[in-house]
Amino acid sequence: MGSESVSLGMDDIDSPTGGCTTHFASLLVERLEPLIEEWKDYPHLIRLNPNIPYRTRGNGGVCLNFTIDSNEIGEIIPLVTGMVQKYADLKYPNTNPGVAIVNGEIPSTLKSFSQKAVWRTVPKSLAFRIADEHQIDYFTHGNGRGLVGALAAIGHGLEGDHTYEYLAYRKMSETHEDRGVEKSSVETMNAKMGNRTFSNLDLTNDTMLIEPHGPDPVLYGIRGEEPQDVIEAASYIKSSQEIDRWMVFRTNQGTGEHLSHHFSIDELRPYMSASLTAEIVEAPHIISGGHAIFAVSDSKHSIQCAAYEPTGDFRWDVMKLRVGDKLTIHSGVRPQSHSYDITLNVEGMLINQLADHVEYSNPLCDHCNRRMKSAGKDKGFKCPHCGHREREHKKVEHHVPRELQLGYYLPRPGAQRHLTRPHSRVGKQNLFSTKLIEIWHNP
Ligand code: ATP
Repeated sequence: MGSESVSLGMDDIDSPTGGCTTHFASLLVERLEPLIEEWKDYPHLIRLNPNIPYRTRGNGGVCLNFTIDSNEIGEIIPLVTGMVQKYADLKYPNTNPGVAIVNGEIPSTLKSFSQKAVWRTVPKSLAFRIADEHQIDYFTHGNGRGLVGALAAIGHGLEGDHTYEYLAYRKMSETHEDRGVEKSSVETMNAKMGNRTFSNLDLTNDTMLIEPHGPDPVLYGIRGEEPQDVIEAASYIKSSQEIDRWMVFRTNQGTGEHLSHHFSIDELRPYMSASLTAEIVEAPHIISGGHAIFAVSDSKHSIQCAAYEPTGDFRWDVMKLRVGDKLTIHSGVRPQSHSYDITLNVEGMLINQLADHVEYSNPLCDHCNRRMKSAGKDKGFKCPHCGHREREHKKVEHHVPRELQLGYYLPRPGAQRHLTRPHSRVGKQNLFSTKLIEIWHNP
C-alpha cells in the first residue's frame, strides 16, 4: 500500500494538577519514533483564541506531521488513546482530551475551521460534524471539547508567519518542587541572543518569563525566530531541576495572528479577539482595582474599554489618551456582567492620530501681570490683586504638548498573550519553514 502523510492533532491533555498537552506530545514523539517513516516538520504548537473561557492556560493545541506505512495508520488512534488514558487526569471535570488523525491532504473546511478557532469561539458540534463529514478518525473524553483544538491544530498548517519554542520538561514526579531557573542565566542568554529570541524577561518588574509557575512538567520555554536560536539559547540556562526531556515546536506565537480581523463595534461578540479602529469619546479614568477605563466610538456605536491592572505601566500610557485621539485597538471582548457592560479588554493599541489638546486659562492682568478672575457672565475679567477690570479680554488658549507618540503600545511583557506580536517582532515575517535539523528533541 505504500506510505501515507499523516497529521495527528491533540488538545486538552492536561489538568491544573499536572500534565500538559505539549509534554504529552513529546512522550508521543518518542513512542511513535520506531513506527514512523519520516517526520515532515517540527511538531506544531498552535495557540488558539486566547479569549475563550474554557482554556486552562495558553490555549494551545499540538499537531504532529509524519509519513507512515499505510498499514500502520489504523494503530495510531488506539495507541494514543491508551497513552491519554494513562497520562491525563480524566477525573478532573475540565479535562476533555481530543485526538484526531487526518491522512493526506488537509480538507479546506478544516483549514477554515482552524482559522476561526484562532480568533473566535467555535461550537463543539461543528468539530464533530467536520470529523464525521471527512471520516476523520478521532478519540475524545469528557465533553469532547478537546476535538476543537485537535482539529484546529491539524488545520492550521503554519503557512504564514511563525516562530519556534524550545520546551524543556522536568520529571512528572518533581512537578511540585521549585524549578530553580537562575535569573542571571536568563539575563546572560537574553543579552547574547538579542532579537533572535523574545519574551524572555519582563524588565518592568524584574521577572523571568521563560519559567512557568504552575505544577506542570514544563521547566522552561524559550521562544525565538529559528530552531537553532532556541536550542542555542537553552544552552545558557541553568536550573536546579534537571531537564528530563526537551523538544522544539514550530508555532504561531508572537505573530499577532488572533488580531488579524477588523470589526465595527456592532459586529463584536463575546470572547472574540478583535481589532477595531475608533476614536476616544470618553477620556480614561482609573477605577478601584487600578484598571484604566475609557470609551471609544466608530461613529455609529460606542463601547467601554479597559486596560486592566496587570498590564502595568501600559495603563499610564492609556491614561494619556484624550478625547479625539484615533487608534486601532487590539482586544478581547468581555461579555456583559452584573456590574459592567460588554467591555474590550485592551491587549495593545496602535495610535494613528493624536488630537490637539487645548486647555483654557484666565488672562493675566495688564497692570500687575497676575492671573485675573471672571467678573461674571459677559462681564469680562477683574484682577483680585489690584482691582483692574477688563471687559474685552477672552480666555487664553494653550496647546498642551502630547506625551504620547504615534505607534504601537503594548502591556508589560508578562501581561502579553502567547500570540501577541512583541515589539522585537514588529515587521518580521518568518514565511519559510526551516528544514528539520538533526536533533530537535531528546529523547
Ligand atoms: P494547556 O496550555 O495546558 O494546553 P490550555 O490553556 O490549552 O491548556 P485546554 O485545557 O486545552 O487549555 O482547554 C481549552 C479547550 O478549549 C480545549 O478543549 C480546546 O479544544 C477548546 N478550544 C480551543 N479553542 C477554542 C475555540 N476557539 N472555540 C471553542 N473551543 C476552543
